[in-house]
Amino acid sequence: MPTSSIVAIGDELVGGFTLDTNSHWIAERLRILGYPVKRVSQIRDRPREIVDQVHRELADAEVTDIFMSGGLGPTPDDRTFAALADALDKELVIWEETRARIERRVQRMHAMGLLESPELTEGNLRMARIPSGPAHIFKNRVGMAPGAVYEASGKRIFVLPGVPMEMKGIFTEELEPQFLGGGSAATVREVRFSFAVEAKFYPLMRELEETSPDVSVGSYPNFETKELVIRCVGLDPKRVEEILDVIRKRSRELGFTPQPA
Ligand code: AMP
Ligand code: MG
Repeated sequence: MPTSSIVAIGDELVGGFTLDTNSHWIAERLRILGYPVKRVSQIRDRPREIVDQVHRELADAEVTDIFMSGGLGPTPDDRTFAALADALDKELVIWEETRARIERRVQRMHAMGLLESPELTEGNLRMARIPSGPAHIFKNRVGMAPGAVYEASGKRIFVLPGVPMEMKGIFTEELEPQFLGGGSAATVREVRFSFAVEAKFYPLMRELEETSPDVSVGSYPNFETKELVIRCVGLDPKRVEEILDVIRKRSRELGFTPQPA
């Protein structure tokens, strides 16, 4: 059973400046593709902390796939590849294919009058410097930073740029088709109520937790709309349906009417 872990890297995320929309987006895609996420972590752009986090992910026997985003840019605060090299005990090397692609892009931008010089800057070059021995390099049609895949401790590590548009471009155009086929997505079904009292469901939820550990049941009240959503997630669609029926029946006994499906 594939199980994923997401690591979002950036001082701006942890500092409360930027909302970590990448993790949210990736988690949804992975659930739909059948590579559900066990954990999402947000960490700072500090080499030591990135190395420690990579080691933590590699030590988790349940995790099969690790998705990292952020810190691949041209500035000195982009340290993900250097830290990953350190964590995996690899050399940092200039990846020629990526360097040449960045060079072509810089030259195009120069020709369009967007850049003063057609020469690669140290910042440009920085983006082509990656840990040696990648299992795969992504092209990134949208931007300059490459993405890469590594294999370590029997797990795959996907390294993606932080810029949301670039991350999504690589993910949908390259990563999904090549690396995330064959997963079987969990079945997700919901029962919705308006004005149901969440606390009344406590005994039922405790009971289902004991009797049906194969279906996870979560309760999500929305205090603005006064709606309550009870969401069931499980691998066997038949079992999820059964639990859904139990919830519908028992909620009526509690005096709440489920909204039509
Ligand atoms: P970086 O790849 O770290 O250089 O980030 C490039 C840009 O993408 C920055 O402006 C970030 O704020 C944005 N960014 C990085 N990580 C995330 C994330 N997890 N969610 C949303 N935006 C992000
Ligand atoms: Mg950054």
